[in-house]
Amino acid sequence: MEKIIDGKSISQAIKDECKERCAAYKEKGLDVTLAVIIVGNDPASKVYVGNKKKACTAVGISSLSYELSEDTTEEQLLKLIDDLNNDSKVNGILVQLPLPKGIDEKKVINAISPLKDVDGFHPENVGKMCIGEDGFVSCTPAGIVELLKRSGIKIEGKECVVVGRSNIVGKPMSLLLLRENATVTVCHSKTKDLKEVTRRADILIVAVGKPKMITADYIKEGAVVIDVGIHRDENNKLCGDVDFVDVVDKASAITPVPGGVGPMTIAMLMYNCLESVVLQNQQRD
Ligand code: NDP
Repeated sequence: MEKIIDGKSISQAIKDECKERCAAYKEKGLDVTLAVIIVGNDPASKVYVGNKKKACTAVGISSLSYELSEDTTEEQLLKLIDDLNNDSKVNGILVQLPLPKGIDEKKVINAISPLKDVDGFHPENVGKMCIGEDGFVSCTPAGIVELLKRSGIKIEGKECVVVGRSNIVGKPMSLLLLRENATVTVCHSKTKDLKEVTRRADILIVAVGKPKMITADYIKEGAVVIDVGIHRDENNKLCGDVDFVDVVDKASAITPVPGGVGPMTIAMLMYNCLESVVLQNQQRD
């Protein structure tokens, strides 16, 4: 097992597999298409969307781009989603979050057909994941499970602690680990004595959204540490929720930022786009 988990190369392996699968679909006359919607001018969102479209091109997935202005109304956005839901040439629909004020994110997520919800945020897909049925699983937590498995880290029977309980990372993460037969504890801002809980973890997953919050004293010797956070530090360098320099010697394996979890999220989005073809065909059978 490598100490520094290489999310870049693992994600590349997944994208290569997706590329092969995509080519095989093309030979059967199936073109895979992702519709990407961005509303407004958030610079970070623009970078994320650019990276997603680049990955689509590399894998062979067609991407349709909808760049809507900041003053787009909820009604206009819902109408576009409805059109894309009904367009049989579109397999996946992605609405980049956050949305501008005045647009209800929940309504928008609920409007995407669960069969095209490649982000895995629709309540139907969240419910399916919860009870272990086929459906889309949100990309970051799914990517973390892949990262662990492909790094040779056994999850079954392990004490896993997840710091954070957001709908897009912490909650689905804890459910997926449970599905992998780990013993799972979820921590949040009301957790009493966080250190005492995190020090029990064989595998610690941190999605707390606070730069370098997790230092060596939160970690058991030899733990595996997965850092979901993405921030810019005081020198404008990317960093995570974990203080990498402080923790690296104590951990048996750790993800860096950048080059850890981040690239996995995009690779799993590509995987979900290809899965959409399978799910949509199952529906037609
Ligand atoms: P949220 O802000 O939605 O959630 C943060 C969670 O951390 C909440 O559940 C909150 O608890 C908990 N929390 C906050 N402070 C503390 C504390 N002091 N002690 C314990 N728990 C605490 O963040 P996200 O889940 O959306 O994202 C987390 C990080 O991951 C961010 O840095 C984000 O940028 C990054 N991210 C990275 C992705 C990637 O691809 N690598 C993808 C998505 C996110 P409570 O619920 O009680 O408020």
